[in-house]
Amino acid sequence: MARYSFLELAKNAFTAHRNWGRQWRAPEPKPAYDVVIIGGGGHGLATAYYLAREHGIRNVAVVEKGWLGGGNTGRNTTIVRSNYLWEESARLYQHALNLWDGLSQELNYNVMYSKRGVMMLAHTVHDVQVFKRHIHANRLAGVENEWLSAEEAKAFCPPLNISNTIRYPVVGAALQRVGGTARHDAVAWGYARAADALGVDILQNCLVTGIRRGPDGAVTGVDTSRGFIGAKKIGCVAAGNTSAVMAMAGLKLPLESNPLQALVSEPVKPAFPCVVMSNTIHAYISQSDKGELVIGAGTDQFVSYSQAGGLHITTHTIDAICELFPMFRRMRMLRNWGGIVDNTPDRSPIIGKTPVPGLFVNCGWGTGGFKATPGSGHVFAHTLATGEPHPIAAPFSLDRFRTGRLIDEAAAAAVAH
Ligand SMILES: Cc1cc2nc3c(=O)[nH]c(=O)nc-3n(C[C@H](O)[C@H](O)[C@H](O)COP(=O)(O)OP(=O)(O)OC[C@H]3O[C@@H](n4cnc5c(N)ncnc54)[C@H](O)[C@@H]3O)c2cc1C
Repeated sequence: MARYSFLELAKNAFTAHRNWGRQWRAPEPKPAYDVVIIGGGGHGLATAYYLAREHGIRNVAVVEKGWLGGGNTGRNTTIVRSNYLWEESARLYQHALNLWDGLSQELNYNVMYSKRGVMMLAHTVHDVQVFKRHIHANRLAGVENEWLSAEEAKAFCPPLNISNTIRYPVVGAALQRVGGTARHDAVAWGYARAADALGVDILQNCLVTGIRRGPDGAVTGVDTSRGFIGAKKIGCVAAGNTSAVMAMAGLKLPLESNPLQALVSEPVKPAFPCVVMSNTIHAYISQSDKGELVIGAGTDQFVSYSQAGGLHITTHTIDAICELFPMFRRMRMLRNWGGIVDNTPDRSPIIGKTPVPGLFVNCGWGTGGFKATPGSGHVFAHTLATGEPHPIAAPFSLDRFRTGRLIDEAAAAAVAH
């Protein structure tokens, strides 16, 4: 496989970029693999890559019902940060943040990780108290996060309206300067290309329809739209479809699937320097490298598998954006879409074993798993390879819903993008 470099770029420029090779193979499924990963989103592909690279397990297939990154990976608003409240979460997301650094070089693929800063707005006295507690907790855990006054917030993000006459006056903000964005498709493609180069088979247009188990109850493989594929171990990384996939093995997980939506504006010149989030009014915004404003809304409150959300949710978000950033009032919106997010009761992921021998799960990332992609794949690969949870992933076992040792980021953050 060609190594991408300046020289390679220059060479291909002479042939008008018509001769770039395929990024990954399109193999026929083998009869059996050591590990089958269900779901070709960022998390599934990262898992396959780290399985091959760090654990030498290369007889692996990633089975994807559609196209790579066509699930939440390619539908999210790409916010990357690690300032979650609880130590368990901070460790997990910080692990991911550390891996984002240098990921483009490692994968030889530009994932466009941009540390432009993620600023979370406080609008009420309660917000101020919560954010300050958050900042102290993060600092004790070695995670960067700082408090800004409203004026400092405006200096960091000049389009922000800090007048106290608006419905949601800005009274301060928490800022993580190392937070930012990355290019979502590139993350999926970069991991796919690197995993493929290590021998992983990527099987697109391959819907898993069943999970087969042997007489001892252990998994033996998956039924798919491209035939039966044997597997010693199965890792389910199917995001919003996890409940449906796990039901194939007779398991019911504490998950609800809800639509979450986002929208982009027409492209404009660079006008917005960072990422701004408001949990209280549930709006978040950044500007993509193409120039579009990328705006995220809240989840629909009903369970659904529709990849579109209610109009009233977007209207509410746009309302808030127009008050916070009046200069965008006359922008036209280009398109909107939805993804199906898998929410757990404590809004923290589930990573680890299931009661079915050989079946592992990595899900429950809900509205905020993109930022965790490298870390999630890294710790899940360890779990699949060794059969035991990675120390960072151990608190995120399914068992916590039985023991009550929840990691309650729902109460802590209210929103998890
Ligand atoms: C609108 C929106 C905005 C978001 N914003 C952010 C954000 O700013 N920051 C952040 O950190 N996170 C955000 N998220 C959440 C984030 O996108 C997800 O947590 C993350 O991308 C999940 O990655 P994944 O690889 O697990 O899932 P996915 O990318 O959804 O991959 C799962 C794959 O499994 C496949 N699959 C499902 N069932 C089957 C089957 N039966 N057989 C074969 N394949 C199957 C699907 O087709 C899919 O491709 C957002 C999500 C949405 C929808």
